[in-house]
Amino acid sequence: MAATTDFVLPPVTLRIGGEARNTGVGIHHHVNPVTGRPDAQIPLAGAADVDDAVNAAHEAFALWKATPAGTRSRALLKLAQLVEEHTRDFVELAIADNGTARSTAQATVSAAVEWIRYYAGWADKLPLGRITSVAGAGGSFGHTLRQPYGVIGAIITWNAPLMSLSMKVPAALAAGNTMVVKPSELTPFSAMLFADLVTAAGIPEGVLNIVPGGAEAGAALVEHKLVKKVTFTGGPETARKITTACAQTFKPVLLELGGKSANLVFADADLEAAAMHATFMAFGIMSGQACALPTRLLVQDSIYNAFVASVGALASSFKVGNPQEADTICGPVINEAAIDRIDSMVSRAQEQGAHLITGGQRLAGDLAGGFFYPPTVLADVDPASELAQKEVFGPVLAITRFSDEAEAVALANSTDYGLSGYVWTGDARRAIRLAEALETGEVVVNGAPNAVAERPFGGIGHSGNGNEGGLEGLEEFFWTKSVAYGNG
Ligand code: NAD
Repeated sequence: MAATTDFVLPPVTLRIGGEARNTGVGIHHHVNPVTGRPDAQIPLAGAADVDDAVNAAHEAFALWKATPAGTRSRALLKLAQLVEEHTRDFVELAIADNGTARSTAQATVSAAVEWIRYYAGWADKLPLGRITSVAGAGGSFGHTLRQPYGVIGAIITWNAPLMSLSMKVPAALAAGNTMVVKPSELTPFSAMLFADLVTAAGIPEGVLNIVPGGAEAGAALVEHKLVKKVTFTGGPETARKITTACAQTFKPVLLELGGKSANLVFADADLEAAAMHATFMAFGIMSGQACALPTRLLVQDSIYNAFVASVGALASSFKVGNPQEADTICGPVINEAAIDRIDSMVSRAQEQGAHLITGGQRLAGDLAGGFFYPPTVLADVDPASELAQKEVFGPVLAITRFSDEAEAVALANSTDYGLSGYVWTGDARRAIRLAEALETGEVVVNGAPNAVAERPFGGIGHSGNGNEGGLEGLEEFFWTKSVAYGNG
């Protein structure tokens, strides 16, 4: 299958200060997930490269912190404008990075622009502190100061690189920090254009440094003495290692991890809208490879059979194929290892009693060379089984029935994760009760959009801690100093 248009992949380099370095400690062969064939060589940063990048960020910190807030704001606004102007390039880069379908890639660039613009707006309206005491008889005047940390180390994963960059970089820079970002070696392309546009926006050299690499570079970044805070998006095993490394020096760490988010559909909901939302969100956004997707569908008894049938029919109607084609809804998954993981989880789910409604087998024919797995719906999934409890990170939806609200809440809260909760109901009182009862970082009712810039996004439990988005996302990048003035 022809994988790409005539778009030319940018060379991947390590961006350190003003330098573009094209060698590191090794090479990763990028594989095009549409064809399954290698298409680029990616230099991998090593510990020495990371050290240089952190030093460059450290040197740039004094200047960036002292840069007038209005100037920082205008630079970030310019960045948002440039990203928007390069929408077509970022769409091609997302397709090249990991095979994101064109329609999703387009929406992702628009969302990224909104996130950059949102934090540009905060840069000169920062909540700098508050008065803590007022000088009076024998008292002292006191206030807090919000201080940027210095160098922030950011490690991101492969599923949505531009989105991850836009959720982390503008907030950290708006607050006056500088950064070293380590994109996944699997998906380095979008970060190259992002780095170019940061420079074009007038943000000084060294404020943002990008070091594509693997675990070695990530570990070196986390452990570096001059990195004052770590922000990580990825899986729980890596998060555990990062948290352990940070614990050695009590370094704060923000963790945006995975989920097994429940979608509760009650009989009183708008069922047509709920079925479309449940299906599109499970499969139509990066082929199920996104953290906050509703991958567990809990459906009330009285509508269960009809609802499962609707979701199955919709899922099997989604076009899976070349992400370049405008009507493709599901592109490939990231690599062969993902296909193996997904396929074996689907097999084990059936061994554990789940019923396959659609999908369940790697696609052959024209798509055989790439990493294509169809939307896969499994019904009657045992809530205690692996499929109900563990993230698949692929196009697999697990459906379980419930009888009443109390059972739905108990099922929803029965995993170690706590990222997103989705509710479909026509009863406003129920929606309010569930917003309170679900143990998740966000609750989304009746198809409201999620991951929008002005709302905090983050998880609890095995889904992580801390927030991106909203004022909370900005506050992650300050530490608070308390100041008091005596009378002496
Ligand atoms: P991963 O944890 O394997 O890798 C993530 C990043 O960590 C990569 O850049 C990798 O090179 C780096 N890394 C690996 N070992 C490291 C080490 N020892 N020290 C430092 N860095 C290291 O990620 P994955 O499991 O492939 O990513 C998918 C996961 O990411 C899923 O669980 C998904 O839900 C989650 N995710 C979460 C969010 C969110 O915002 N909550 C968004 C997207 C993805």
